[in-house]
Amino acid sequence: MSDFVIAPPPVPAIPVLGETALFPVRRVYCIGRNYAAHAVEMGHDPDKEPPFFFQKNPDNLDASGTFPYPVQSSDVHHEVEMVVALKSGGTNIPVEDALTHVYGYGVGLDMTRRDLQGIAKKMGRPWEIGKAFERSAPVGPLMPVSECGHPDTGAITLGVNGEIRQQGDLNQMIWKVPEMISYLSDYFELAPGDIIMSGTPSGVGPVVRGDELAARVEGLEPLLVKVV
Ligand code: MN
Repeated sequence: MSDFVIAPPPVPAIPVLGETALFPVRRVYCIGRNYAAHAVEMGHDPDKEPPFFFQKNPDNLDASGTFPYPVQSSDVHHEVEMVVALKSGGTNIPVEDALTHVYGYGVGLDMTRRDLQGIAKKMGRPWEIGKAFERSAPVGPLMPVSECGHPDTGAITLGVNGEIRQQGDLNQMIWKVPEMISYLSDYFELAPGDIIMSGTPSGVGPVVRGDELAARVEGLEPLLVKVV
């Protein structure tokens, strides 16, 4: 017996390594320009800027291993990012306590319709049209903290057809994971199921149909995605 006037949509969820049960997703927060070299390549001064966030939709996450080239764009970029998954939340979380809220980590791609994002930036409009489109966030399986700890150093790379295009180190993040959690919790009420995409190193660039993307963060399960 349903209490809804239409059938409720499915709960967005992503896989967990070694588990049949899924991780249910409530919100997806993404930080912008969190690696200095990427801020510079996008034309910004990386120094002393406070962090800023945008959101993707929970159902934009996609663990299928394929990325359909989206409509309405001819300049779609890859951004490899470490994904942080929260098992608990709250408001005004101190930096020192922030990591106790993390369930696990994974590897994701913040796929971006760069042409549409560029128009939005120029016109002072929101970014959703460039960032929050269908299947815009390919993700690999999460690893629980019990398996991977709290990665804060190590290589983060993206290969396209076997050639490395993005290369950085987690230790180059301007805002570290505990700082991001604390900062977000000052503005939003964080909750179980929230995801944070922690920013991308330099080397972002376009993809085309047929590309094979290999997104890797040292110590985490890699994400392999084919652009179709
Ligand atoms: Mn990004």
